[in-house]
Amino acid sequence: MIISVASGKGGTGKTTVAVNLALSIDNVQYLDCDVEEPNANIFLKAEITEREDVTVEIPEINYDRCDFCGKCADFCAYNALAVVPSKVLVFPELCHSCGGCELVCPRDAIKWKKRPIGKIEHGSSGSTDFYQGILNVGEATATPLIKALKRRMDKDRIVVLDAPPGTACPVMETVEGSDYCILVTEPTPFGLHDLKLAVEVMKHLSIPFGVVINRDGIGDDRVEQFCNSNRISVLMKIPHDKRISTLYSRGVPFVKELSGWRERFRKLLLSIEEGVGNDFR
Ligand code: SF4
Ligand code: SF4
Repeated sequence: MIISVASGKGGTGKTTVAVNLALSIDNVQYLDCDVEEPNANIFLKAEITEREDVTVEIPEINYDRCDFCGKCADFCAYNALAVVPSKVLVFPELCHSCGGCELVCPRDAIKWKKRPIGKIEHGSSGSTDFYQGILNVGEATATPLIKALKRRMDKDRIVVLDAPPGTACPVMETVEGSDYCILVTEPTPFGLHDLKLAVEVMKHLSIPFGVVINRDGIGDDRVEQFCNSNRISVLMKIPHDKRISTLYSRGVPFVKELSGWRERFRKLLLSIEEGVGNDFR
Protein backbone atom coordinates (compact mmCIF):
# COMPACT_ATOMS: atom_id res chain seq x y z
CA MET A 1 0.00 0.00 0.00
CA ILE A 2 1.36 3.40 -0.98
CA ILE A 3 0.45 6.33 1.26
CA SER A 4 1.67 9.76 0.28
CA VAL A 5 1.78 12.64 2.72
CA ALA A 6 1.40 16.05 1.11
CA SER A 7 0.46 19.60 1.96
CA GLY A 8 -0.56 22.58 -0.09
CA LYS A 9 2.12 24.69 1.56
CA GLY A 10 5.43 24.25 3.31
CA GLY A 11 5.82 24.36 7.07
CA THR A 12 2.50 22.70 7.91
CA GLY A 13 4.04 19.62 9.54
CA LYS A 14 3.92 17.24 6.57
CA THR A 15 7.20 15.55 7.44
CA THR A 16 6.19 15.42 11.12
CA VAL A 17 3.08 13.45 10.18
CA ALA A 18 4.92 11.20 7.70
CA VAL A 19 7.71 10.37 10.15
CA ASN A 20 5.45 9.75 13.13
CA LEU A 21 3.18 7.58 10.99
CA ALA A 22 6.14 5.55 9.71
CA LEU A 23 7.51 5.06 13.21
CA SER A 24 4.14 3.74 14.37
CA ILE A 25 4.15 0.95 11.76
CA ASP A 26 6.41 -2.09 11.57
CA ASN A 27 8.38 -2.89 8.46
CA VAL A 28 7.61 0.29 6.53
CA GLN A 29 9.44 1.86 3.63
CA TYR A 30 9.91 5.63 3.76
CA LEU A 31 10.82 7.67 0.68
CA ASP A 32 11.64 11.33 1.20
CA CYS A 33 10.58 12.78 -2.16
CA ASP A 34 11.04 16.37 -1.02
CA VAL A 35 14.27 16.26 -2.99
CA GLU A 36 15.01 19.99 -2.92
CA GLU A 37 15.08 19.98 0.85
CA PRO A 38 14.88 16.46 2.30
CA ASN A 39 14.70 16.63 6.08
CA ALA A 40 12.98 13.45 7.25
CA ASN A 41 16.28 11.90 8.25
CA ILE A 42 16.80 14.59 10.89
CA PHE A 43 14.05 12.70 12.72
CA LEU A 44 14.44 9.13 11.46
CA LYS A 45 18.22 9.12 11.89
CA ALA A 46 18.72 6.27 9.44
CA GLU A 47 22.28 5.16 8.92
CA ILE A 48 23.02 5.77 5.24
CA THR A 49 24.75 2.76 3.74
CA GLU A 50 24.33 3.31 -0.02
CA ARG A 51 24.61 6.31 -2.31
CA GLU A 52 23.85 6.33 -6.01
CA ASP A 53 24.11 9.13 -8.55
CA VAL A 54 21.03 9.82 -10.66
CA THR A 55 21.52 11.01 -14.22
CA VAL A 56 19.35 12.11 -17.12
CA GLU A 57 20.20 11.88 -20.81
CA ILE A 58 20.78 15.03 -22.82
CA PRO A 59 21.60 15.45 -26.51
CA GLU A 60 25.11 15.64 -27.82
CA ILE A 61 25.64 16.79 -31.39
CA ASN A 62 27.70 14.81 -33.85
CA TYR A 63 29.24 17.60 -35.92
CA ASP A 64 30.44 15.13 -38.54
CA ARG A 65 26.78 14.75 -39.52
CA CYS A 66 25.01 17.97 -38.49
CA ASP A 67 24.28 20.52 -41.25
CA PHE A 68 22.74 23.10 -38.86
CA CYS A 69 19.31 22.80 -40.44
CA GLY A 70 17.65 23.89 -37.16
CA LYS A 71 14.89 21.24 -37.15
CA CYS A 72 15.85 20.02 -33.67
CA ALA A 73 15.65 23.52 -32.16
CA ASP A 74 12.35 24.20 -33.93
CA PHE A 75 10.93 21.03 -32.43
CA CYS A 76 12.12 21.50 -28.85
CA ALA A 77 9.21 22.86 -26.82
CA TYR A 78 11.51 23.61 -23.88
CA ASN A 79 13.98 25.85 -25.76
CA ALA A 80 16.80 23.54 -24.76
CA LEU A 81 18.41 23.81 -28.20
CA ALA A 82 19.48 26.80 -30.32
CA VAL A 83 21.17 26.55 -33.70
CA VAL A 84 23.63 29.25 -34.72
CA PRO A 85 25.59 29.22 -38.00
CA SER A 86 28.24 26.75 -36.95
CA LYS A 87 27.06 25.36 -33.64
CA VAL A 88 24.09 23.75 -31.91
CA LEU A 89 23.82 25.12 -28.39
CA VAL A 90 22.43 22.70 -25.81
CA PHE A 91 21.04 24.11 -22.56
CA PRO A 92 21.18 21.06 -20.29
CA GLU A 93 19.02 22.42 -17.45
CA LEU A 94 16.12 23.06 -19.85
CA CYS A 95 16.18 19.63 -21.50
CA HIS A 96 13.40 17.23 -20.45
CA SER A 97 15.08 14.22 -22.13
CA CYS A 98 11.99 13.63 -24.28
CA GLY A 99 14.04 12.32 -27.22
CA GLY A 100 12.08 14.31 -29.80
CA CYS A 101 15.07 16.13 -31.25
CA GLU A 102 16.64 12.83 -32.20
CA LEU A 103 13.44 11.74 -33.92
CA VAL A 104 13.18 14.87 -36.07
CA CYS A 105 16.86 15.14 -36.97
CA PRO A 106 17.11 14.22 -40.69
CA ARG A 107 20.85 13.45 -40.48
CA ASP A 108 20.96 11.18 -37.43
CA ALA A 109 23.30 13.70 -35.82
CA ILE A 110 22.09 13.46 -32.24
CA LYS A 111 23.51 11.07 -29.69
CA TRP A 112 23.14 11.09 -25.93
CA LYS A 113 25.25 11.67 -22.89
CA LYS A 114 24.49 11.40 -19.20
CA ARG A 115 24.16 14.41 -16.93
CA PRO A 116 24.07 14.01 -13.14
CA ILE A 117 21.13 15.74 -11.43
CA GLY A 118 21.38 14.45 -7.88
CA LYS A 119 21.67 11.32 -5.81
CA ILE A 120 19.65 8.77 -3.92
CA GLU A 121 20.69 7.70 -0.45
CA HIS A 122 19.53 4.51 1.21
CA GLY A 123 19.73 3.26 4.76
CA SER A 124 17.65 1.96 7.62
CA SER A 125 16.38 3.06 10.99
CA GLY A 126 15.03 0.18 13.06
CA SER A 127 12.53 -1.61 10.82
CA THR A 128 12.15 1.43 8.55
CA ASP A 129 13.74 1.09 5.12
CA PHE A 130 14.71 4.65 4.24
CA TYR A 131 15.43 6.39 0.94
CA GLN A 132 15.94 10.06 0.19
CA GLY A 133 16.58 11.98 -3.00
CA ILE A 134 18.93 14.94 -2.97
CA LEU A 135 18.69 17.25 -5.97
CA ASN A 136 21.84 19.07 -7.05
CA VAL A 137 21.77 22.79 -6.29
CA GLY A 138 20.53 24.81 -9.26
CA GLU A 139 18.63 21.97 -10.95
CA ALA A 140 15.43 23.32 -12.48
CA THR A 141 13.32 20.18 -12.33
CA ALA A 142 12.93 17.63 -9.57
CA THR A 143 10.66 15.14 -11.33
CA PRO A 144 13.34 12.86 -12.89
CA LEU A 145 14.91 12.35 -9.46
CA ILE A 146 11.52 11.66 -7.86
CA LYS A 147 10.79 9.15 -10.64
CA ALA A 148 14.10 7.40 -9.95
CA LEU A 149 13.35 7.39 -6.23
CA LYS A 150 9.91 5.87 -6.73
CA ARG A 151 11.43 3.02 -8.73
CA ARG A 152 12.84 1.83 -5.36
CA MET A 153 9.34 1.30 -3.94
CA ASP A 154 8.64 -2.14 -2.56
CA LYS A 155 4.90 -2.45 -3.09
CA ASP A 156 4.65 -5.53 -0.87
CA ARG A 157 5.22 -3.25 2.12
CA ILE A 158 3.56 -0.11 3.35
CA VAL A 159 5.30 2.71 1.55
CA VAL A 160 5.18 6.25 2.97
CA LEU A 161 5.99 8.95 0.41
CA ASP A 162 6.95 12.31 1.90
CA ALA A 163 5.93 14.69 -0.89
CA PRO A 164 7.39 18.12 -1.63
CA PRO A 165 5.24 21.06 -0.46
CA GLY A 166 2.87 22.84 -2.83
CA THR A 167 0.85 21.57 -5.77
CA ALA A 168 3.32 21.76 -8.67
CA CYS A 169 4.78 19.00 -10.89
CA PRO A 170 7.06 17.41 -8.21
CA VAL A 171 4.02 16.91 -5.96
CA MET A 172 1.97 15.41 -8.79
CA GLU A 173 4.88 13.10 -9.66
CA THR A 174 5.17 11.97 -6.03
CA VAL A 175 1.51 11.32 -5.27
CA GLU A 176 0.59 9.77 -8.62
CA GLY A 177 -0.11 6.06 -8.16
CA SER A 178 -0.68 6.38 -4.40
CA ASP A 179 -3.46 4.34 -2.84
CA TYR A 180 -4.18 7.17 -0.44
CA CYS A 181 -2.93 10.68 0.28
CA ILE A 182 -2.86 12.36 3.67
CA LEU A 183 -3.13 16.13 3.27
CA VAL A 184 -1.58 17.96 6.18
CA THR A 185 -2.79 21.46 6.90
CA GLU A 186 -3.04 23.99 9.69
CA PRO A 187 -6.20 25.78 10.84
CA THR A 188 -5.38 29.19 9.37
CA PRO A 189 -6.63 31.10 6.31
CA PHE A 190 -3.35 30.28 4.50
CA GLY A 191 -3.72 26.62 5.43
CA LEU A 192 -7.28 26.56 4.10
CA HIS A 193 -6.34 28.32 0.87
CA ASP A 194 -3.57 25.85 0.10
CA LEU A 195 -5.62 22.87 1.27
CA LYS A 196 -8.27 23.74 -1.32
CA LEU A 197 -5.61 23.65 -4.05
CA ALA A 198 -4.28 20.32 -2.80
CA VAL A 199 -7.82 18.87 -2.75
CA GLU A 200 -8.25 19.83 -6.40
CA VAL A 201 -5.02 17.99 -7.26
CA MET A 202 -6.26 14.85 -5.49
CA LYS A 203 -9.59 15.01 -7.31
CA HIS A 204 -7.81 15.52 -10.62
CA LEU A 205 -5.62 12.47 -9.99
CA SER A 206 -8.52 10.45 -8.50
CA ILE A 207 -6.57 9.66 -5.35
CA PRO A 208 -8.56 9.02 -2.15
CA PHE A 209 -7.51 11.44 0.54
CA GLY A 210 -8.15 12.70 4.06
CA VAL A 211 -6.89 15.59 6.14
CA VAL A 212 -4.70 15.87 9.22
CA ILE A 213 -4.99 19.22 11.00
CA ASN A 214 -1.70 20.12 12.62
CA ARG A 215 -1.27 22.77 15.33
CA ASP A 216 -4.93 22.47 16.19
CA GLY A 217 -5.86 25.34 18.48
CA ILE A 218 -4.27 28.17 16.54
CA GLY A 219 -6.33 30.08 13.98
CA ASP A 220 -10.00 29.23 13.44
CA ASP A 221 -12.29 26.34 12.53
CA ARG A 222 -12.74 27.14 8.83
CA VAL A 223 -10.57 24.21 7.71
CA GLU A 224 -12.82 21.85 9.62
CA GLN A 225 -15.94 23.51 8.27
CA PHE A 226 -14.57 23.16 4.74
CA CYS A 227 -13.84 19.46 5.33
CA ASN A 228 -17.26 18.82 6.84
CA SER A 229 -19.17 20.59 4.11
CA ASN A 230 -17.17 18.78 1.41
CA ARG A 231 -17.41 15.37 3.12
CA ILE A 232 -13.64 15.17 3.54
CA SER A 233 -12.47 13.00 6.43
CA VAL A 234 -10.50 14.73 9.17
CA LEU A 235 -8.28 11.79 10.06
CA MET A 236 -6.50 13.35 13.02
CA LYS A 237 -5.92 16.61 14.85
CA ILE A 238 -2.50 17.26 16.32
CA PRO A 239 -2.72 19.93 19.01
CA HIS A 240 -0.59 23.04 19.16
CA ASP A 241 1.39 21.67 22.09
CA LYS A 242 4.64 23.04 23.43
CA ARG A 243 5.91 19.53 24.18
CA ILE A 244 5.52 18.57 20.49
CA SER A 245 7.30 21.76 19.35
CA THR A 246 10.15 21.20 21.80
CA LEU A 247 10.63 17.61 20.67
CA TYR A 248 10.55 18.78 17.04
CA SER A 249 13.27 21.35 17.73
CA ARG A 250 15.41 18.56 19.16
CA GLY A 251 14.77 16.30 16.15
CA VAL A 252 12.70 13.82 18.18
CA PRO A 253 9.47 12.42 16.67
CA PHE A 254 6.75 12.87 19.26
CA VAL A 255 5.42 9.29 19.02
CA LYS A 256 8.67 8.27 20.74
CA GLU A 257 8.02 10.41 23.81
CA LEU A 258 4.31 11.14 24.17
CA SER A 259 2.10 8.24 25.17
CA GLY A 260 -0.92 7.28 23.11
CA TRP A 261 0.20 8.77 19.81
CA ARG A 262 1.65 5.61 18.31
CA GLU A 263 -1.74 3.96 18.80
CA ARG A 264 -3.51 6.94 17.24
CA PHE A 265 -1.32 6.74 14.14
CA ARG A 266 -1.94 2.99 13.94
CA LYS A 267 -5.67 3.66 14.08
CA LEU A 268 -5.25 6.26 11.38
CA LEU A 269 -3.54 3.66 9.20
CA LEU A 270 -6.27 1.15 9.97
CA SER A 271 -8.95 3.62 8.97
CA ILE A 272 -7.13 4.24 5.70
CA GLU A 273 -6.77 0.51 5.07
CA GLU A 274 -10.43 -0.01 5.74
CA GLY A 275 -11.24 2.84 3.40
CA VAL A 276 -12.99 4.75 6.12
CA GLY A 277 -11.83 8.12 7.37
CA ASN A 278 -12.41 7.91 11.12
CA ASP A 279 -12.41 10.92 13.35
CA PHE A 280 -9.95 10.89 16.25
CA ARG A 281 -10.98 14.11 17.97
S1 SF4 B 1 18.23 18.60 -36.66
FE1 SF4 B 1 20.12 17.40 -36.72
S2 SF4 B 1 21.18 18.18 -38.50
FE2 SF4 B 1 19.62 19.69 -38.00
S3 SF4 B 1 20.65 21.16 -36.66
FE3 SF4 B 1 19.72 19.63 -35.35
S4 SF4 B 1 21.33 18.11 -35.01
FE4 SF4 B 1 21.95 19.35 -36.76
S1 SF4 C 1 15.41 15.74 -25.60
FE1 SF4 C 1 13.49 16.90 -25.82
S2 SF4 C 1 13.71 18.55 -24.34
FE2 SF4 C 1 15.76 17.73 -24.63
S3 SF4 C 1 16.65 18.98 -26.24
FE3 SF4 C 1 15.71 17.23 -27.25
S4 SF4 C 1 13.65 17.91 -27.82
FE4 SF4 C 1 14.45 19.36 -26.29
